[in-house]
Amino acid sequence: MKIRKYIDEKTIEERIIRLADEISADYKGSDPIIISVLKGAFVFTADLIRKLKFMPKIDFIRVESYGSSTVSSGKIEKKTDLSIDVKGKDVLIIEDIADTGLTIQYLIGYLNSLGARSVKVCVLLNKKEKNRKVRIDYYGFEIENQFVVGYGLDFDQKYRNLPYIGILEKE
Ligand code: 5GP
Repeated sequence: MKIRKYIDEKTIEERIIRLADEISADYKGSDPIIISVLKGAFVFTADLIRKLKFMPKIDFIRVESYGSSTVSSGKIEKKTDLSIDVKGKDVLIIEDIADTGLTIQYLIGYLNSLGARSVKVCVLLNKKEKNRKVRIDYYGFEIENQFVVGYGLDFDQKYRNLPYIGILEKE
């Protein structure tokens, strides 16, 4: 497999600073809980939270939807439970990418069922031209409808440690 660089380190870093400023301004005076979606969002979460101007409680949830394929199966499975009570709290989901939006839709439903006061969504990458039912409140980049890896995102559990976002090309 060959990787073509798509969004470089500097561009990601600069965008995250602006995104964190926007989120910090919106949540000023409130006390939200951040729920980071494993595994893909761990790198983005680590960078984003360190630029926020408030001190959120942070939890992780692991969901799976793809298996080892590059096409969404549409079937979402929750693999872990939360350890922070979100009842009556404002929650911000941090996710790597919105493709079909089904994972986010599932998580919003789940967090609402736990009694969250509000649920907002922040994704690093927002795939274009998707006819989704869910609203993405914050996103880093809008990208073409193609399979990307790196910066937390995998193909078959590899490439998560690439510092940039790349496109996987079959040689
Ligand atoms: P959705 O439920 O929105 O279709 O997909 C959500 C999940 O599928 C993401 O959290 C991510 O794990 C995976 N995914 C979607 N598109 C891509 C992609 O282009 N590359 C990688 N590596 N994962 C993707």
